[in-house]
Amino acid sequence: MNKVERKILLNPGPSTTTDTVKYAQVVPDICPREKEFGEVMASLGRDLVKIVHGGDDYAAVLFCGSGTICIDIALNSLLDKDKKALVVQNGSYSERACEVLRAYGMPHIELKQPIDTTPDLAAIEEALRKNDDIGYIYMTHHETGSGLLNPIREVGALAHRYGAFFITDTTSSYAMIPINVYEDNVDFCMASAQKGIMGMTGLSYVIGRKDIIERSKDFPVRSYYCNLYMQYHYIETTGQMHFTPPVQTIYAARQALAEYFEEGEDRKWERHQRVMRAIHQGEEELGLREMLKREVQSSLVSAVRYPDDPNWDFDKIHDYCYERGFTIYPGKIEKKGTFRLCALGAIDEQDIRDFWQVFTEAVKHYGVQIPARYDD
Ligand SMILES: *Cc1c(COP(=O)(O)O)cnc(C)c1O
Repeated sequence: MNKVERKILLNPGPSTTTDTVKYAQVVPDICPREKEFGEVMASLGRDLVKIVHGGDDYAAVLFCGSGTICIDIALNSLLDKDKKALVVQNGSYSERACEVLRAYGMPHIELKQPIDTTPDLAAIEEALRKNDDIGYIYMTHHETGSGLLNPIREVGALAHRYGAFFITDTTSSYAMIPINVYEDNVDFCMASAQKGIMGMTGLSYVIGRKDIIERSKDFPVRSYYCNLYMQYHYIETTGQMHFTPPVQTIYAARQALAEYFEEGEDRKWERHQRVMRAIHQGEEELGLREMLKREVQSSLVSAVRYPDDPNWDFDKIHDYCYERGFTIYPGKIEKKGTFRLCALGAIDEQDIRDFWQVFTEAVKHYGVQIPARYDD
């Protein structure tokens, strides 16, 4: 087997993958309507549920698309008529959820919260108390734009206390931060193969309670293609996705899951945290400052403020690092200059040490002051 040139991706997914996952895509041609392929998908679905410790009462519903397809599907499929959605809006991904609800013209409450700190549970509870028609609460687990980690367990408990479902976008935490759907009060979560499981792009999944999916059969159908019950029912009755699945990506995902279980939930999470400690260490050595306090961070994304240095030019630093095999990523925080360093993917602390060496060369090359200069 040839080795593929290794790139260190510090962007928030797609992430660095192993060669074994890359090559798992190279399979004999197969028609995905064959029973053999159905078995691959069925076992994949069971493994995806297992990652979040769900039992037979949870199902993984597969879709062909990027992660946003799951946001769209969960939001549009799980709201009964006469019900409203409640979105905790504290970052670019929960803002995206609101855009989806607006696009469908669905009734919703956009509960704006600060983007750099944990949301106010009392405000969420008040919204629930004032509105007795909330169908579900929607919150992003890990706001990937800033690195903010949201309290799903507490918000899930609140949703349940007021008779609402709890949907959380775990795209950038699933298979990294340990999640237990029962203990964390999660009715629905979602992810995409190119993030936590370290697979390829094009396969995404909503994982959730079968009883609610069954009930959603009678909810308004707002999309022909992006409907949760439609896909669930089709997979349950035929063992196939309704429309053409991403065949090769599914083979890669199967290999990625084998590697996930081999590494183990705790060891993998420990590795991501070790990578983030190495990221933080380099920031400290260079005097780089972050947007968020450490206590509210996910340990998966660090949003670094641009130094107030006339020689700082993100694009130039990016290109210098990129040419040497390291990809860094611009920030997603409105009007504030930040870039992101992420601990996703098949990388370890030595990769980060190598990265900091190149990054340091880059800032020196362009005459950026070390330690980094900030005017506040
Ligand atoms: C990456 C990500 C998504 C999906 O983004 P796509 O570009 O559609 O794959 C959704 N939510 C969160 C929190 C993410 O990090």
